[in-house]
Amino acid sequence: MFISLRWKAVLLSSVVLVLISAVWIGQSIYGALASYDVEVQKKHQSRQQFLNQMVQDDLLKFIQFAQLIVQRSEIKALYEQPIEFSMPQFLVSMLPSWNKSIGLDYIAILAVDGSSLGEAYNKKLGFDIAPLKAVLSGFNTSDSQPFMYCQKACLQLSSKPFVFSNGAAGVIILGRSMADVASRYHNALSSDLAVLIQSSDLLENHRYGLPEWAHSMWVSSSTESIHAMLSAYSLEHSIENFQRSSSFSYENSEYSFNRINIPLLNRVGMSSVFIDISNETESKNKLIESVWRKVWFGVLGLVLSELILILLILGPIRRLINVAKALSLLPKHRYQEAVDTIAKHKTYVNDELTQLEDNTIFVSNEFESLYGKIQETNANLNKKVHSLSRSRAFLTRLLDNPSVFVLTQTKDFEVVLSNSKFKNGIKHSDNNFLHLFSNMRTKDAFIKEAQGLTLNTGKAYQHEVVMESCEGKTLLVSWSHTLVEDEQGDEIIVSVGMDNTEHKKDEVKLKWLANNDSLTKIGNRRSFMRDLNDLLDNHTQGAVLIIDVNKFKQINDIYGHMTGDEVLIDIARALKEVAQSMGSISRLSGDEFTVVLPAVSVGELGGFLTILSSALHGKVTLKNKTVVEYSVSIGAALFPDDGDSYQTLLAHADMAMYKAKKAGLSQWHIFNESDDNSEGLKRDYYLSELIKSALANNLFQLVFQPILSIEKGSVQHYETLLRLNDELGNGVSPAEFIPVSERLGLIRDIDNWVLDNALVRLSEELEFQPDLKISINVSAPTLQMNEYPMIFMDAIKKHNVDAKHIIIELTETAYIENFKQVLDNLTILTDEGATIALDDFGVGFSSFSYLKQLPLRYVKLDGSYIKDLRNHPDNQVFVKSISDMVTAFGMRAIAEFVEDKATLDMLKELGVYYAQGYYIGRPDSELLSNDFHL
Ligand code: C2E
Ligand code: CA
Ligand code: CA
Repeated sequence: MFISLRWKAVLLSSVVLVLISAVWIGQSIYGALASYDVEVQKKHQSRQQFLNQMVQDDLLKFIQFAQLIVQRSEIKALYEQPIEFSMPQFLVSMLPSWNKSIGLDYIAILAVDGSSLGEAYNKKLGFDIAPLKAVLSGFNTSDSQPFMYCQKACLQLSSKPFVFSNGAAGVIILGRSMADVASRYHNALSSDLAVLIQSSDLLENHRYGLPEWAHSMWVSSSTESIHAMLSAYSLEHSIENFQRSSSFSYENSEYSFNRINIPLLNRVGMSSVFIDISNETESKNKLIESVWRKVWFGVLGLVLSELILILLILGPIRRLINVAKALSLLPKHRYQEAVDTIAKHKTYVNDELTQLEDNTIFVSNEFESLYGKIQETNANLNKKVHSLSRSRAFLTRLLDNPSVFVLTQTKDFEVVLSNSKFKNGIKHSDNNFLHLFSNMRTKDAFIKEAQGLTLNTGKAYQHEVVMESCEGKTLLVSWSHTLVEDEQGDEIIVSVGMDNTEHKKDEVKLKWLANNDSLTKIGNRRSFMRDLNDLLDNHTQGAVLIIDVNKFKQINDIYGHMTGDEVLIDIARALKEVAQSMGSISRLSGDEFTVVLPAVSVGELGGFLTILSSALHGKVTLKNKTVVEYSVSIGAALFPDDGDSYQTLLAHADMAMYKAKKAGLSQWHIFNESDDNSEGLKRDYYLSELIKSALANNLFQLVFQPILSIEKGSVQHYETLLRLNDELGNGVSPAEFIPVSERLGLIRDIDNWVLDNALVRLSEELEFQPDLKISINVSAPTLQMNEYPMIFMDAIKKHNVDAKHIIIELTETAYIENFKQVLDNLTILTDEGATIALDDFGVGFSSFSYLKQLPLRYVKLDGSYIKDLRNHPDNQVFVKSISDMVTAFGMRAIAEFVEDKATLDMLKELGVYYAQGYYIGRPDSELLSNDFHL
């Protein structure tokens, strides 16, 4: 049970005060009572003295009076008196006057033998004289003595011897009623004197009898009321009670009874008791009043001192309680509150409590700063634990990473730890890392580099190693080794390896694709360029052949593209057989093949061409046993005789080919001077004139082909395509005039015209289709101009169009000569908000490296992969892997040439994001915003 210190102090001090007050009050009451008793005692004594004094005075008067009386001749000379003289008569006659003078009630003269010579008494007293006479008869006459005789009343008597004139001895006895003394006593002291006389015979005829005690009463005053009181008293107490003083309450008054002795007087006759009866009501009341006053003063004093005590104690106690309260706040970390609690009641007088308070504040402040430090330490610890667990989680993730090999090895190449990917992925017979190497050179290089690793440089040794998987497959692992310190301070090598096998395969394939035609598996236009340049640069003589399939369009139209493809593949196969040993072969475009023959002379060339042309006159048998025959026309130009530049040689070989074709099937022709100015060149010339006039007269037209978001099932994106008609109104394909204009250096003007006019349409269309985007084909030569970004920005400013609506399709990447400039320009354009698409991915020169280096958003998979996708599983694999890779790089793949629903469905399955092609929509002069329904 908790009892506050305040209440304890108050209670304790109250108890002490109450005790002190009680003692004080008790002591005062006791004193008052004691002094009252003493006073009563004194009063009693003085009364007794007073009564005895009165009796003595009376006795003295009696003796003087007796001397006077005995001198009278009637008495003195009794024996000389005549016979007739009667002493008793004389005494009776004299008694009234003596009664008057000194209140005499009895007188007797006795002879020496005690016989009475005469007597007289006051009849009013009404008592029997005979018993008294009997007492007196035995009286000795020689001495005088006082005594008292009580019967119905009490008399005080005194005897005095004297001598008669004849010399005989006699005694005179004088008596007086005690009533006189009693009334004087009452008058002087205003208390009553009661006399109780034993009197059995008087009971009946005495008015004031007290039958209980067998006494009769006789009293100085108020006889009736005192008799009533004594009667009541006698009912409860015995007469022996008067041996000592006693008190009695009667009719609302307090009385005291005190027995009074009169030792002067000998008693004769009936026994008697003298009692002083005083009304003590007033003094008793006074006593009670004084006692009460003392009690009141005591209580008042108690209350006052209690109040003062409380006032004195409570201040310090409150401070003490505050200290206790403050201390109790410390474990709850409420330090400021604790300090405030004390500070609120702080005094400016110094005492022990002040020290206690100061110490408590000090302790609180110490605790607070300690607690703060602990919390800070805790927070730091938590942070450390957190970061530790994070780094542990990171490490665990790293170790459990299913795509990297992680291991640690000593500097002696002992593998200490390794992750499960390593354990289950790479074949290893023991724990020596060196035993994983199959190639001595790479091993030695590794040992040298690994031993050269130093701590804290952050330098890692990276290399690629061929290793064997647990399943026996060859893996190409790219390792990175770093030297670190382990927790014991030992140096260990942390090795992380990445399985690059698949990646490498893709890269090899892409690389291969860059230089090869995926259909015929022989070189492509790029490899042709390389080989021709090689001939020009590194050989003194040689030849270029151009081989064109005769009526290939017809084969395509009659038997379908598949058959066309088969024919092309068969031609490539035959070409390889005959020409690969002599030179390099490639497919230039659709149905055009080339052979570059280094170090061949005019003499040799004719024979070779004959063999070749007959070898390329072949047939394919279709599944339905249909036999499709094909033949080629071959044109050749000699280096350096027919030209020493790429363009001339190519143009002359082309012309020779035209000539051969004109000559009929399976013909070949070697260029000669007269072939110049022939059809091909004429066509080029014609086209260049047409382009120039179209630019000057604004004859070009733009069409827009929708690009479908497969994911959303809607079109918001169109490719801008250029259209040109000749003067007869026949369309000329950009596939024809764009290469010519590139060759003639007109392409920049064309691209600028397209940009300007496409923006006109775009700004108009944006009002209706605010999310619209259009892509514009921009050739590599244009993108190589360092002023191109400025031209682009001026144009979009002029037409007030945001760059985010424009996608730049990078086409004809084969013509990129200054890659750095293209990259810089594209970076600026993307910074401005435009996005970039890489066109015709998979053919020509677009390579894997472009994907990584250029800021691309879209990659357009070349139509040759998409057309008839369903029937080419390897194309599906290609599309899928390129699309996945592109997506992984954060780009989106667009498939071109989507010509049917099946292809679109498949693309969707393969995860390609966008589709473009005749099935979605043909190029149109209108930008139709119809949603495409999948
Ligand atoms: P591209 O950029 O690859 O354009 C796609 C070509 O494929 C277009 O031919 C288009 O009409 C055609 N095409 C679209 N869907 C299909 C389909 O489902 N099947 C088939 N077989 N073909 C489809 P187009 O318009 O003759 O353009 C040929 C090339 O000329 C373009 O190839 C592009 O490289 C170039 N070109 C076109 N317009 C411009 C231009 O404004 N500026 C530049 N620099 N080059 C352009
Ligand atoms: Ca394009
Ligand atoms: Ca294309």
